[in-house]
Amino acid sequence: MENGFKIIKDMFPDYLEETNIEIDEDKIIIYFDSKRKSCNCPSCNNPSMTKSTYFTRKIQDLNVIEKPLFLIIRLAKYRCENPKCNTKIFSENISDFAGEKQRRTNRLNELLTKFLLTQSAESAARRCSYIKTKISGDTLLRLSKKYEFAMDMESIRSIGIDDFVF
Ligand SMILES: [Zn+2]
Repeated sequence: MENGFKIIKDMFPDYLEETNIEIDEDKIIIYFDSKRKSCNCPSCNNPSMTKSTYFTRKIQDLNVIEKPLFLIIRLAKYRCENPKCNTKIFSENISDFAGEKQRRTNRLNELLTKFLLTQSAESAARRCSYIKTKISGDTLLRLSKKYEFAMDMESIRSIGIDDFVF
């Protein structure tokens, strides 16, 4: 899969390093490790280099060749080294790529929102099942509210819907 790695490498943040890829009949899974050595505390903004433990997040991304793509990303929990800060442990933040507690990447959420804004809720839900994304009508509505004002159709086009989804 050497060549496959090269093609997809540019699609992900620099700080994520692929460690493995699984291509199944019905899905693709890419495993990543974070290469970061430090992270800023979300409360006091002090940089920390002390990793306390690791955790993984499973996140769905845009389909590749009509297969749902899942990312399993290993991230660190850091210890805040500022004695005056109330936060003791915090999780590595990848919100530029996938927001906190989100099970989908930002670009997948934007795509789903675009479905909802340009189609009826019913056909948007059908479209989601076509791209094999399990998502409830309520979640779609929440997403559309969240992104309504931040929507930028140009950036959605540039994430490569034409190349990777249909
Ligand atoms: Zn802190």
